[in-house]
Amino acid sequence: MIDEATEFEAVHGVRPSGVWAAPGRVNLIGEHTDYNHGFVLPIALPHTTRVTARRREDGRLRLFSAQGGGTITELALDGLEPGVVTSWAGYPAGVFWALAEAGHAVGGADLYVDSDVPSGAGLSSSAALECATAAALNDLYDLGLSAPELAVLAQRAENAFVGVPCGVMDQMASSCCTDGTALFLDARTLEQRHVPFDLAAAGLRLLVIDTRVKHDLGDGAYAALRAGCERAAELLGLPALRDLAAADLGPALDRLPGELRPLVRHVVTENGRVLEAVDHLVRGDLAALGPVLTAGHASLRDDFRVSCAETDLAVEAAVAAGALGARMTGGGFGGSVIALVGAEQVAEVSAAVTAAFRAAGFAAPVAFTAVPSAGARKVG
Ligand code: ADP
Ligand code: MG
Repeated sequence: MIDEATEFEAVHGVRPSGVWAAPGRVNLIGEHTDYNHGFVLPIALPHTTRVTARRREDGRLRLFSAQGGGTITELALDGLEPGVVTSWAGYPAGVFWALAEAGHAVGGADLYVDSDVPSGAGLSSSAALECATAAALNDLYDLGLSAPELAVLAQRAENAFVGVPCGVMDQMASSCCTDGTALFLDARTLEQRHVPFDLAAAGLRLLVIDTRVKHDLGDGAYAALRAGCERAAELLGLPALRDLAAADLGPALDRLPGELRPLVRHVVTENGRVLEAVDHLVRGDLAALGPVLTAGHASLRDDFRVSCAETDLAVEAAVAAGALGARMTGGGFGGSVIALVGAEQVAEVSAAVTAAFRAAGFAAPVAFTAVPSAGARKVG
């Protein structure tokens, strides 16, 4: 923790107590299913947000981020309420608020944040920031909360304090993932299963392509989609779309207004794709995941309609260049694409996507390979 401790001391004038890290994530399959009480299958990225921290005994928060514009945000814990903090500091402040609101004995703290998770790229830098903060406070204040409990509180911070109506996948992935595995999560029960995902043993790589198109999930489109799904469930007399069986999809669609049908079709078929993907992983047939990814993208593009020209082109170019499958990952409207490729094809597929972007007049994408990594933890 040499670097972080020095940076922390330069900002806060005291030595920190420790450093906590939480990762960004990519979701292999199961998009827009979490808030419909369905299934998801994310992996944690090697990229993390690190929170270096120390308790304060005066009930105040001093928040600084290397990506936060160079100023310290100072707040009083007992003055926190939704709507008060409108900058980046709302994410960590929201975690303090959510812990206090749930009755946990959290006090003030000094935080120094630094991250290599690309922000606004659909890789969940927001959950990484929340979950690293939650892990730090859990240790600093001896709260004794489990990783899933911290994830749910971090989601509460983003939903109620920041005001983004996200599901629970991002925070569960950032808090609970383990090295070398994908997290098969039931978003209703929070039951989790860590499924081995050994890309190297299968001679495969997972290419992450950041299209550099910034999504903005706060802009109301996500909320409108979520409301559409909830309305459809209500019209069908179901607690959530999770409860609609694939076999009943046809007759159910006939009972719904036209504009809700493609949303429901996506959610039901997407839950099926998660179960299919888990089956392939459990059998060790990682290559069979490829077509599942591509089918998931078609559903997001044609039914859920959250893809954009750049994500569609990245998927198309990757598959044309020999990827086994590809899809946009994250909420949509830009962000990143994942492609499952043979180990020897990484350079060729990346080059093909870059060339296609250049030909279309799009800004150059940024590609990297990712391995399934660990969730939130103390690192120093
Ligand atoms: P994503 O989670 O896909 O990266 P979001 O829009 O949900 O995109 O979250 C991005 C926002 O999270 C940023 O605009 C910023 O407010 C905040 N954020 C994330 N990481 C950091 C960081 N290291 N420092 C400061 N703010 C951050
Ligand atoms: Mg986010």
